[in-house]
Amino acid sequence: MKFLSQRGYFVKAPVPNGPVTIGGRLVLPGAASPSTGLPLVQYASVRVSSDALSIPGWLSQEIHCLYSWTCNIHLGDFSYRQTPETVTVLEYQAGIDGAGPDFPYEGYPKSFRAVSGTLEAISEREQAIILHLNKSAAPDFAVDPDYAMNTPEANDLSYPRHQFGGVPLLLQSDAPPKDCIECRREMQLFASVGNGNYTNDLGFFGNDFVQILYWCCPACQIVSARNYCD
Ligand SMILES: [Zn+2]
Repeated sequence: MKFLSQRGYFVKAPVPNGPVTIGGRLVLPGAASPSTGLPLVQYASVRVSSDALSIPGWLSQEIHCLYSWTCNIHLGDFSYRQTPETVTVLEYQAGIDGAGPDFPYEGYPKSFRAVSGTLEAISEREQAIILHLNKSAAPDFAVDPDYAMNTPEANDLSYPRHQFGGVPLLLQSDAPPKDCIECRREMQLFASVGNGNYTNDLGFFGNDFVQILYWCCPACQIVSARNYCD
C-alpha cells in the first residue's frame, strides 16, 4: 500500500475554524449518486495546504471524502474526479438493489451536520502501536496482552478513527492497494474515516468497526474510496 505521507494526523473536534470538516455537504455539480440522483454524503473534507495536510499537485483548496450507502456504490470501488468547479463520478457499482434509504441504519441522514476540527499530529509511539495492530491477527483487535505497548491508550487506537496522512489502523491489513482508474498508477492512501461524527450516537455507519479508506491521485485529481468492516 502506498501512503500519502509518513506523518499522520488525528482529528480533534469541535474546534472553530479548523482545517477539517467532519460531515457537512459539498454543493458542486456532479456530487450525486448516478443511481439515485441523491447528493453524495460527505464524511470529511480537509484543507490542502502546507500548514495542514500537504498533497503536492492537488489543485482544489480542499479534498472531499464522499460516499453513498443508500445505493450500490458501497458494494464496490468508488472513484470521482474533484476539481474546484465540479465532481465527476468515474467508477461505481450501479443500482440500488443492495441498499436502501434505511441502510446502514434506520432513518439514515441524507447529510451530517458539519463539525469543524483541527489536525493533531500522531506521535511516533501512537504510529508504532497502529503498525503493530495492523500486523496482529487478533480478530477483535484486542491488543496483545504480552505486548509492551498494551495500555489504555493502545486500546483507544484499536478501532478506526478519522486519520489523515500516516498509516491508519486497517480493519483488513491485507487490503489491496488501489490503482488510479485513469493513469493506472498506484494511488496514495490519504484518509481513513471512522464512525464518530460528533453529532449523533449512531455515527456515520452505526458501527465502530467500519471504516472507509480514501486514496488520491494528484496527477488526475481523482479520489477513490472503499469501505471495510471487521
Ligand atoms: Zn491518475
